[in-house]
Amino acid sequence: MTLPRLLEPAILRIGTHLSRLSAGLSPTLFDRRWWSQSAINLAMKDQAFKAHLFHFIDVLPAVADDARVVSLAEEYFGRLDGDLFGLQWGLKTLASTGLGARLTGKAIRHQVQQMARMFIVGATVEEAAPALSRLWSEGRAWSVDLLGEATISDTEADHYRNRCLDALTGLGEAVGTWPPSPLLERDHLGSLPRAQLSLKISALTSRLDAIDPEGCYRGVASRLRPIVDLAAAKSCGLVFDMEQADTKDLLLLIFKRLFAEPAYRSYPHAGLALQAYHRATGQDIQDLLAWVRTRGTPITIRLVKGAYWDSDTVRYRQAGWPVPLFEQKAETDENYEALIPTLLQEPQLIRPAFGTHNLRTLAVIEAVAEAQKLAPETLEYQMIYGMAEPFQQAMVTLGRRVRLYTPVGQLLPGMAYLVRRLLENTSNESFLRKEYVESQSLPTLLSPPAVIRHPGEQKPSNEFNNEPHSDFSRPSVRTAMHDAIAAVRLDLGRTWESAPNDLRLSGSLLESHNPARPEEVTASVRAALVADVDPAVRLALSRSESWHRRPAAERAAVMRRAAALMRERRYELAAWEILEVGKPWREADADVAEAIDFLEFYASRMDRLAAPLKLGDRPGELNHRVYGPRGVAAVIAPWNFPLAIPAGMVAAALVTGNTVLFKPSERASLMGRLLTDILMQAGIPSGALLCLPGGPEIGRALVGRPEVSTVAFTGSKEVGLQIVAGAATIQPGQRLVTRVIAEMGGKNAIIVDDTADLDEAILGVVSSFTGYAGQKCSACSRAIVHASVYEQFLSRLKDAVASLTIGDPLDPGTQVGPVIDARAKQRIEDYIALGQQEGRLLLRRPTDGPGYFVGPTVLADVTMHHRIAQEEIFGPVLAVMKAAGMEEAMDLANSTAYALTGGVYSRSPANLALARERFDVGNLYVNRPITGALVGRQPFGGHRLSGVGAKAGGDDYLTQFMISRIISENTLRRGFEAAD
Ligand code: NAD
Repeated sequence: MTLPRLLEPAILRIGTHLSRLSAGLSPTLFDRRWWSQSAINLAMKDQAFKAHLFHFIDVLPAVADDARVVSLAEEYFGRLDGDLFGLQWGLKTLASTGLGARLTGKAIRHQVQQMARMFIVGATVEEAAPALSRLWSEGRAWSVDLLGEATISDTEADHYRNRCLDALTGLGEAVGTWPPSPLLERDHLGSLPRAQLSLKISALTSRLDAIDPEGCYRGVASRLRPIVDLAAAKSCGLVFDMEQADTKDLLLLIFKRLFAEPAYRSYPHAGLALQAYHRATGQDIQDLLAWVRTRGTPITIRLVKGAYWDSDTVRYRQAGWPVPLFEQKAETDENYEALIPTLLQEPQLIRPAFGTHNLRTLAVIEAVAEAQKLAPETLEYQMIYGMAEPFQQAMVTLGRRVRLYTPVGQLLPGMAYLVRRLLENTSNESFLRKEYVESQSLPTLLSPPAVIRHPGEQKPSNEFNNEPHSDFSRPSVRTAMHDAIAAVRLDLGRTWESAPNDLRLSGSLLESHNPARPEEVTASVRAALVADVDPAVRLALSRSESWHRRPAAERAAVMRRAAALMRERRYELAAWEILEVGKPWREADADVAEAIDFLEFYASRMDRLAAPLKLGDRPGELNHRVYGPRGVAAVIAPWNFPLAIPAGMVAAALVTGNTVLFKPSERASLMGRLLTDILMQAGIPSGALLCLPGGPEIGRALVGRPEVSTVAFTGSKEVGLQIVAGAATIQPGQRLVTRVIAEMGGKNAIIVDDTADLDEAILGVVSSFTGYAGQKCSACSRAIVHASVYEQFLSRLKDAVASLTIGDPLDPGTQVGPVIDARAKQRIEDYIALGQQEGRLLLRRPTDGPGYFVGPTVLADVTMHHRIAQEEIFGPVLAVMKAAGMEEAMDLANSTAYALTGGVYSRSPANLALARERFDVGNLYVNRPITGALVGRQPFGGHRLSGVGAKAGGDDYLTQFMISRIISENTLRRGFEAAD
């Protein structure tokens, strides 16, 4: 939708007028008086410097020690006494006038604080009051935004609520004595409060996650109510800031529900921000209009362009989800313009507030208001404190109500905010940059947004692409999952007889119990007896020839069909996982997606390996490498990724032409059975895949068979090593040395250094050690923390763990569910008892109910010699260790028998380089959680006693299931070379 062309002359006229009114001023950031100007200038020219500068500013608040500030600056920018650096920072004079040639940490900190002061009005409301009063006397209203760290616990959410309450009290008192300002205090609907607070709803809860709207509403609303009560009593305005795209609908829901509650229905100063870069905003405004009609009291809508474009776009693309935001800046500008008349259409219901720093947008708003003959007090303009001062001035001069979004908070912790503002100002798309740095001409600046229309067609690609995880912020996805759970529950406790195969199993029924409600039988699956192994092996052997003679493309097609069947049954499969092994929603969904990935990925890799490969190019010879299957493979699987892991091993063996004897874990027989059914339905012939549910005795029997030439095992180190040892003995009649591919356990560590972003590090450690109740081979079980942040880390970690929702995984809000069974629970509890002797118990969450719950537990002051620092526990238990520096942290991290996953949270380039070089793990994760490897993009597997064999989901995995042969032919016959 575009504006009527008719308005363009008015836009040009008004824009020219506004430009004249703003002449002579320039935004503070671009003002030559500031030392920072040279740094900003360089950042605009040099992308690499910009990244370094912003990363450095971002890490600064984390570092208390002055010498460390200097050494970090050197890591980012090279030696500090060089001329270039001195010039960039405008510090040359400082250095040559007595402070010495070297910069000090204090001087650097001071410079950056000065930069922050441009955007942050004061550390506290008290400190900010004089500046707010000055703004008022200059004819500018404001909306205070309280800056702070991310909220990662309930304690921190309470703290933010208290800060909001204090701010309302403080602001309420401060404004009482100010002189009246009719322009700022009245609009077409009546009086306007002098004080307005912008709220970050994500800071009012430890977890704003749309997977659980009900739970989130309860948590947020309980903290919001006292804030609204006080705002109403003090006559202050409240505006919800809009945040990341995946929380938009949730914020709208919270807003509508809260302000429809009888106590708050008539509160007249509620508002929220909407982002024009979001494609759904037009619809959201219509929905809000309809809602306000039923509420009966108007609201404020602040229309902004949107501040999370980069991060949201990256995150959605990374997840493989359609991006809900406009791709081009010009499309956002165009949408913004289109939304202006919408916002102005019902001023009895909506108080419109327009947040923009763009001269043309300002002119468009004026032109539309003029065309609709709206009185100027009907709307207000909002700009950010410290930005676009010339336009602020122009609008004030024009007699318009201007409100500044004004951050209050500690300067250094406010750095994340500063970096956002700097990014915005220096981006190529920034209007301010276009006008004040690039000096574009007025007609160019005032011309309509130039959207480049794409043909919109994307070429289909044959490349493997990961199956996207479900986006549970979408209501339709949540409904599908709820429905699937309900449907599956009707089938609970069913008996699953032998799969329709040429082999009837003779064992008893193996019951799976719901770990959250052990009295509930999820399924009864017919098991195999050891006596069944012999006929099974013979059957598999007899079908080997016909299966491997199928063209590889056909075998790959079967895998793709199986993947398609899983996609169709995606939520049903996830629901069964929840009920059989107790995975929370997201984890269950991710396991199904990973199973689909394995099927697709190995199919695509088989396509590449199938054709003979010509080697060398010398004349007179023709060399080919060809692959063939090894024969009969045994697949022995664990229960913790009950679909994905067996799907990967079975698919790899089958697609390469082997027949497979598959033993699922006795703790996940149903998932094994469902996988088998899907593969057979997709076209695996009878006998080429045999599922043998049962316990260790079946696994042992399979490994002992001379006909089994490959064993693909995933499970514990103890069992894996037994299999490796057993495979070394050649049985009578054995024709191939058994190849064992064994993925085993881990004792994985995350290092948190003195420069880490603690918000992220703590969230990363918590999700890595409590995800699926710690029952992942990749789970974090050790946190190795730098001494200078150790206590702070422990105290915030404790609060974060105390805020986790523990419960039945059927409930979408559950973050930590039960462990798999009573045996596992006992084993973990034994380790916790031991850990209390070895280390210091920081926290153990209590649990109740009949399920096999173990509360997440943190043990501090653990040393490398403690057993809990060496042995795999496989539960939600974290050992925290202290390190004096990065070298020591590396030594601690590498001090176990395992080498599976590891992580490091750091913003020090030198420490990150050291970790890359020395952290001895199969999968190293930098500044992110350490679980959730993705097929193809992050092939997975460890070494040392964590595994033997190539990485699962990687390029070389399939070759382990094959024999390669080289065929070399002499092509020179009777003196001439035959064409090949
Ligand atoms: P587990 O070793 O107890 O059992 C794995 C499988 O081996 C089961 O099917 C079991 O019945 C079978 N088995 C048991 N004893 C056997 C024997 N003597 N001979 C042959 N088969 C036997 O492991 P689990 O409890 O199912 O899974 C948890 C373990 O798996 C953890 O140690 C975890 O770290 C590891 N794991 C590793 C990875 C990885 O990729 N490295 C992935 C998932 C799980």
